[in-house]
Amino acid sequence: MLTVEGLCAGYGRLNILHEISLTVGAGEIVALVGANGAGKTTALRAVSGLIRPTRGAVRFDGAAVHTARPDRIVRAGLVQVAEERRLFGPLTVLENLQMGAYARPAGERAARLDEVFELFPILAERRRQIAETMSGGQQQMLAIGRALMSRPRLLMLDEPSIGLAPKLVQAVLDAVRRIRDTGVPVLLVEQNAAQALAVSDRAYVLESGTIALSGTGEELLHDDRVRQTYLGL
Ligand code: ATP
Repeated sequence: MLTVEGLCAGYGRLNILHEISLTVGAGEIVALVGANGAGKTTALRAVSGLIRPTRGAVRFDGAAVHTARPDRIVRAGLVQVAEERRLFGPLTVLENLQMGAYARPAGERAARLDEVFELFPILAERRRQIAETMSGGQQQMLAIGRALMSRPRLLMLDEPSIGLAPKLVQAVLDAVRRIRDTGVPVLLVEQNAAQALAVSDRAYVLESGTIALSGTGEELLHDDRVRQTYLGL
């Protein structure tokens, strides 16, 4: 569904990504793991159109999107949840979710809301709570829920586990699996390599802006280099 070919991107004259190539197929969770500063966020930004690649191509369902504006990329169904979550803090959970689908017909909004509540029952319980008063894990679920309200065809998550207690990390990654099972493939950027690899169907290891390794999550979990460098084993 998503094909990234020979992508180069950076900031100003500083090139960060050096010809990275990756794919995300229908029904897959694909993880992009790597150390702090390896270029994971930059890769997502380049796919989302937030920065313009200097070389290479991004194709979504065969259509080239690397020259498209970010709003068109979102409308095509390629939706990113940024690391900073960007919730509307003073608004309620329900209002935040509704913001995610404001352009959709009312009937569809209601159906989406039911689906999001089924995926994250905590959001249904807390629908009247002010977003900024929720815990980090709940806010992460809300950010993902809001993205799902726009009916993405592929979801990109930037470090959804950041700052969360281990139990909540697992809860968020379990939700990622359920999202995949509803038919929405996920490109998951994580520094938390062990848990990300365990949940992903396939994964890529990014080192200094290049893809150093790739394989199934299972293969990479057992790879000596990955174990030493990223899992501390
Ligand atoms: P992290 O886990 O810290 O987010 P990352 O793998 O996502 O790491 P990036 O955020 O993509 O890495 O950063 C890759 C490199 O790009 C780093 O050296 C960083 O300093 C640099 N960088 C990131 N954002 C900018 C920016 N807006 N302007 C200039 N350089 C940037």
